[in-house]
Amino acid sequence: MEADIVLTNGTVITMNAERKVFSEGAVAIKGDEIIAVGPSELAGQCQAQEIVDCSGQAIIPGLINAHTHVPMSLLRGLADDLRLDVWLYGYMFPVEQQFVGPEFCYWGTLLSCVEMIRSGVTCFADMYYFEDEVAQATAEVGMRAVCAETIMKMPTPNAATYEDGLRYCREFMERWKDYELIVATVGPHAPYTCTPELLRESARLAIEYDVPLMTHLAESGKEVEDSEARYHLTPIAWVDEHGLLEAKVVAAHCVHVTEGDMRLMARRGVGVVHNPTSNLKLASGVADVMRMSELGIRLAIGTDGPASNNDQDMFEEMRLTALLPKGFSSSPTAVPARQALAMATIGGAQVLRLDHLTGSLEAGKKADIAVVDLSGPHVVPRFQLSDDNLYSQLVYAGKSSDVCHVLVNGRFLMRDRRLLTVDEAEIIAQAQRIARKINTFMAKREEDLLDKMVAIGGLEEREIYEVQVKAEVEEEAIWAALHRPPIEIVRRSEYRQYDTYFLFADPDKGHLRYREDIPVGQGMEVKPGYSLTLRGPTKEREYADSVILSRLRFRSTADRSLRFYREYFQPDEIKEITKHRRRFHIMYKRVRFEINLDRLLEPRYDQVLLEIKSRTWSGSDAERKAQLLTELLDVLGVDRERLVKREYVDF
Ligand SMILES: [Zn+2]
Repeated sequence: MEADIVLTNGTVITMNAERKVFSEGAVAIKGDEIIAVGPSELAGQCQAQEIVDCSGQAIIPGLINAHTHVPMSLLRGLADDLRLDVWLYGYMFPVEQQFVGPEFCYWGTLLSCVEMIRSGVTCFADMYYFEDEVAQATAEVGMRAVCAETIMKMPTPNAATYEDGLRYCREFMERWKDYELIVATVGPHAPYTCTPELLRESARLAIEYDVPLMTHLAESGKEVEDSEARYHLTPIAWVDEHGLLEAKVVAAHCVHVTEGDMRLMARRGVGVVHNPTSNLKLASGVADVMRMSELGIRLAIGTDGPASNNDQDMFEEMRLTALLPKGFSSSPTAVPARQALAMATIGGAQVLRLDHLTGSLEAGKKADIAVVDLSGPHVVPRFQLSDDNLYSQLVYAGKSSDVCHVLVNGRFLMRDRRLLTVDEAEIIAQAQRIARKINTFMAKREEDLLDKMVAIGGLEEREIYEVQVKAEVEEEAIWAALHRPPIEIVRRSEYRQYDTYFLFADPDKGHLRYREDIPVGQGMEVKPGYSLTLRGPTKEREYADSVILSRLRFRSTADRSLRFYREYFQPDEIKEITKHRRRFHIMYKRVRFEINLDRLLEPRYDQVLLEIKSRTWSGSDAERKAQLLTELLDVLGVDRERLVKREYVDF
């Protein structure tokens, strides 16, 4: 038999259907294919170009990382130990909007490929943006991959609308459809970021090109709650209703699933990718792989993106896959080492629909192989009572750094721990260069409240000048004066206003106010309102009875929780002020003013306070209004002795 390469004298773990192991075995390779697997004697029967002695080593199918986001290696360690919303909306999305482009995706992919090859991975499934660059980098390295362009209803770094995303996807799939090592496909991000049309179109595209479709399903408890509240369906039932499961779906996570969801997935042939580290790190939970396995669902393992893991080490994922169900079920027999290795190899290949090519060591399959050194102190001695001794050595004690050779499609990508198809030093230098740019951007942003506020979006600049006066008053007298000429009330409302001020040690930073208005009484504004206002450092000028303040003001609707803003802005001091406010928008001499009659509840203040305000963009207009304000004080009969020259935040 003629062969190009024969790996021999190693323990061959085939992961074929019988889980055959040759304790002294060999694998013969010709071109890109495995032509024979058997005992070491095989080497003697081959006329081989090259014989590689694998004594003391295990020859295993290359590992398959069935769910990751490879370019995110460039965001590894940027922000951790944060709640999902703060992490995503405060850090990942703004940085992605700013930095993710073709170059970012290219170098990020190369960095991930280096990391994965070093840990014995020969094939991975990716979901990100600019997948064309991801595929290009992967092809240059020589790894096998399923590359899914992520589509969602929101704008992404390379598609303003999901229609643009689908168009990009089709061109991308067309371009790569005949390339051997790359499967180009579509990845609708998740039920909560997709519309029914988007799901249907994605499924149609994947079916047309006969490729698997990638997505995230039922990752967090909140996703399921929201879906049930909105559609009265679990996320899995909902995407099924919109035709997604007609395609060959590869679903990452599936942490929060019902028995019905699992049966549905089994029926539809959905492949599930378990991501134990990511699910632990983002506190999503632990997927019930035992039950899914009982129901015959195809199972694979993935690392998820390196920004939420933070590495792409499949040895670690295999170990957690075997350990977590034991802890949860109180059964040490749950998910034995053999099953964990199967999920990381042949299982991955089945889920990605690549098992005719890869996932096990069998004649006729492509030569995707990892050779793992079993001579280190942490993996000796070796017992040979059964094959399970070997599986447990690999899964419970083996480390990614034990991997010494990696071949993909019959080609060495790593030999004796040296990478052969990429310049590792150059890739690391490029990653550091990009990280330095991100670092500068983030450091500047952290310094500047406005930049931080801009990053989360929805910001509006407000009038610079504010003319205001505050005084202690007798309520009845003011009430009466407000209801007679020359004052005309345009609008009124009554509410309880909860202000939370975020203050910073450096006053030049300005401060933030989170405001919550809960209507009371019969006001005209009926809905509760939430807003966030940033006030820059204030310049103050006294003018007759009033003060003119000039400062930058930015306002946005606060569509996230107070908790989010607190964790995101990390103020040095927090002050809370609660007041009962009656607000009147009035016209006086055809100028609009805002009059508040406030009772301070927290901190307690015994007097009723009158506040008159008007805002403008113009300095001269502010002065004119200051004059009118003096007149207004007379109209309302305010005692000048009782003017209060403090802002509420200083009470
Ligand atoms: Zn993911």
